[in-house]
Amino acid sequence: MEDLVLVVGGGTMGAGIAFVAARGGYSVLVVEPDAEARRRGTERIAHDAERAGDPSIADRISWSDALPQHSEASIAIEAVPERFDLKRDTFVALARALAPDALLATNTSSLSVADLADAVDRPQRVIGLHFFNPPAAMKLIEVVHAPETSDDAIERAYAFVGRAGKTAVLAADTPGFIVNRVARPFYLQSMRALAKDVASAEELDALARSAGFRMGPFELMDLIGLDINLATTESVYDRTEAKRLAPVDIQQTMVAQGRLGRKTGAGFYDYSGDVPKLDLSVEKPSGEPNDDEVVALLGLGGVVEELAELLQQRYASVQRLENEDMLDQLAADTTIVIDAGDGTTDRHGILTTLDSMLGPETIFFADAYATDVAACAARMRHPERLVGYGVLGSLAAQRAVEIVDSDSASDDALELAQELFASIGKGVMLVEDVPALFLGRVVGSIVNEAVIAVHDEIATPDDVDTAMRLGTNYPIGPVEWGREIGGARLTRILQRLADAEGSEFAPHRSLWILDVEEEAQSEPVETSP
Ligand code: NAD
Repeated sequence: MEDLVLVVGGGTMGAGIAFVAARGGYSVLVVEPDAEARRRGTERIAHDAERAGDPSIADRISWSDALPQHSEASIAIEAVPERFDLKRDTFVALARALAPDALLATNTSSLSVADLADAVDRPQRVIGLHFFNPPAAMKLIEVVHAPETSDDAIERAYAFVGRAGKTAVLAADTPGFIVNRVARPFYLQSMRALAKDVASAEELDALARSAGFRMGPFELMDLIGLDINLATTESVYDRTEAKRLAPVDIQQTMVAQGRLGRKTGAGFYDYSGDVPKLDLSVEKPSGEPNDDEVVALLGLGGVVEELAELLQQRYASVQRLENEDMLDQLAADTTIVIDAGDGTTDRHGILTTLDSMLGPETIFFADAYATDVAACAARMRHPERLVGYGVLGSLAAQRAVEIVDSDSASDDALELAQELFASIGKGVMLVEDVPALFLGRVVGSIVNEAVIAVHDEIATPDDVDTAMRLGTNYPIGPVEWGREIGGARLTRILQRLADAEGSEFAPHRSLWILDVEEEAQSEPVETSP
């Protein structure tokens, strides 16, 4: 009995789940009423088993067109279409057919596991096993516990996931669980940026890739299907009613027009011809260091250290000033001032002081995530020399830097920005001057959502990070990313966004926790089985 898994529904997910369970050594019975689906599923499993180098995997899977009256299975996983009535009826039938202590699992993406548990007696045996598509390749499974799910059921679910060769994360029974919820801002904030003409879809995708995302948000939505992506947003939004997660007009309009992405030939991109793909990477130049420019670097912190090291390799003269009390030491012939500041405060005070101290030919670079570049330029005698740039947490992780395409900056100053960053091996992308620019808005909002998920006890920080790395291929987990950027810096970035676009985008009050040493934070609170 311990070794039989019953999979109900043998479509896209069910067939994949059956394969994964069989590969883990279980015998599997798949219940699938549709003959064509059975044929497709059998074919796909044979193909996957062949690719895995073990055709016998397929031999451990049998098919049936109806649920048996009685089954010895120790685990049942339903993967029938996403309709509550259908899943509820399936659960009721499973509860009758299986032993009272069998684990009853649902692969639902958007329904409440607790509501399904309510439909059967002994709801403590009901759990969510949320696989990702395609199950054979995706490493992650979200184990979703409803309030009544027993510890024993969670332990058995973890044992199943381990045997299936996957990684489990534990998620509370909330809309979108971990992955579909924490990933929402990637899409929503990107579309909000597009609607504000921050840059084109192609440019924003390139920026996202340059920050480590495997795909940009627009090419990814085109691949997923805008309708599928919108349906997930709507389901999370309907159940959370969190305004920050509300669908955006641009996507609703495109779905209504049938512009669904690759499958309809057009979405954010047109697929009738070659699809453009920008690469912002630049080769780090070699050769003699530049001795035309006299560079001053102001500020303190991780990014400043990184900048200093890179600049010192490429410029003969780099002066470091850690705080504004040292301004009187600034070399009079300075040609470039990079004010990286402290990452958390507006620097217009110091920039206007520098404006009055230095000749008009000196160009200033300011951290545009923390400083309101337009407001600062308005107070300067020579606003044409001020360029805003954005480096989020670490230059090492960013292949390109966003540069504010402000009305006041001169072409020469913008050109110098390109030269300066190219000299340290970074590409640039001009973006409109909006608070948080693009990456600050998108990455900041993802980290914020992750911190909210932790605060709301949806999952532990480690599980949120694992889920996002394995479920969506993020370069690093959002909590870890947030630690790298800093809670205070993210608070500043998101507060500026909220001031401009609405309090729903405000930084969560627990972002500060990202600035607390990890050691101190990891006092055991909860242990995942
Ligand atoms: P699908 O349509 O490919 O497969 C569903 C299968 O269930 C069909 O083959 C259908 O014939 C069968 N079915 C219908 N009624 C049945 C019944 N009463 N008993 C047994 N089988 C029945 O759908 P899918 O994409 O595999 O999705 C299944 C579930 O997995 C849904 O809950 C969905 O939300 C969830 N899910 C899907 C994805 C995804 O990317 N497709 C990812 C994670 C979770």
